[in-house]
Amino acid sequence: MTKSIEQKAVEFCEKHKHRYTKPRERVLKIIASSEKPIKAYEILKKLGEQTNNPKPPTAYRAIEFWMKSNFIHRIESLNAYSICVANHLHEGSQFMICNDCGKVIESHICQLPSSIKKILAKSKFKSIKWNIEINGVCKECY
Ligand SMILES: [Zn+2]
Ligand SMILES: [Zn+2]
Repeated sequence: MTKSIEQKAVEFCEKHKHRYTKPRERVLKIIASSEKPIKAYEILKKLGEQTNNPKPPTAYRAIEFWMKSNFIHRIESLNAYSICVANHLHEGSQFMICNDCGKVIESHICQLPSSIKKILAKSKFKSIKWNIEINGVCKECY
């Protein structure tokens, strides 16, 4: 059985001695329940519906925390965040973005393709993270 993202997050925090604070919990749930990638200001708006005084810096730190922990990904071209759909935490990410309906499909890869690895090796460049975004049309839209 696959664990819920919340269970995973609680276990992750316990294991790494991070605090599972209310802001972190709320931010993660908002991103997880969003059908499409969600922008920071939309996260703040939703936080405002849940608490009467959400503090933007706290929310941004929570977003940062989940991003560093690989629970969420940032879709650079959309300037938005989405929950990771892979069943393990991974560093690189790859997204297919439908130009018609705006749907974003994650297809994670654990390793960079060998063609890119070769280029990195040749340049003696040490990669930390990568983000591949493919724009196109999804099967419902074409
Ligand atoms: Zn992912
Ligand atoms: Zn589409």
